[in-house]
Amino acid sequence: MNHDPLTMSQNGKLIIFSAPSGAGKTTIVHHLLGKIPALEFSISATTRERRGDEVHEKDYYFISKEEFLHRIAKKQFVEFEEVYTGTFYGTLRTEIERIWAKGKTVIFDIDVEGGLHLKRKYGAQALAIFVQPPSLEVLIERLTGRGTDSEEKLKERFAKAEKELEYAPQFDIILKNYDLETACREAEELVSAFIGPPAP
Ligand code: 5GP
Repeated sequence: MNHDPLTMSQNGKLIIFSAPSGAGKTTIVHHLLGKIPALEFSISATTRERRGDEVHEKDYYFISKEEFLHRIAKKQFVEFEEVYTGTFYGTLRTEIERIWAKGKTVIFDIDVEGGLHLKRKYGAQALAIFVQPPSLEVLIERLTGRGTDSEEKLKERFAKAEKELEYAPQFDIILKNYDLETACREAEELVSAFIGPPAP
């Protein structure tokens, strides 16, 4: 087993959770973070407004659009997307390096296109999991029930969700989230098997 932080940092693993907004991936990712100490959350940068009790540098790096564009120009992102019109989200290269340098596995909560982008980039180092909601109708109900978005924003999220469901077959695994407890248990098994046993 290689314990040299520099070489390990090149051979680290990544777990990618992607799904349309509202499919339950954030809940599953939080569950895994509480259960598997070898995982650390990749904090994305975003230009969207902070919601409710979200914390800067914990949930996201909340930055201005100007700063985001500057960081794109400096090639600091491994991937980024304008997920919703005018709203950018992206993974900073330094975020992955920070986590690998600790000898941990990076776990992502990321949109479908960003997830596939990372999978293409990291190949067998990455496990890409698509969280499948029971139906588009259930997804729409969940998104509406959140009460955090304007009607216009919700419509954009519905349209995007419908399109994203078609990407499922391109992922390594489709994890059905029909029952949250079952989905969390299955996710734990899949991720533990991919990471392997802890180093002695
Ligand atoms: P929300 O605004 O609900 O937090 O996130 C909107 C969408 O952006 C979600 O699907 C979320 O997973 C995705 N997202 C979060 N961080 C990133 C990122 O770094 N890159 C990409 N491509 N999508 C992200």
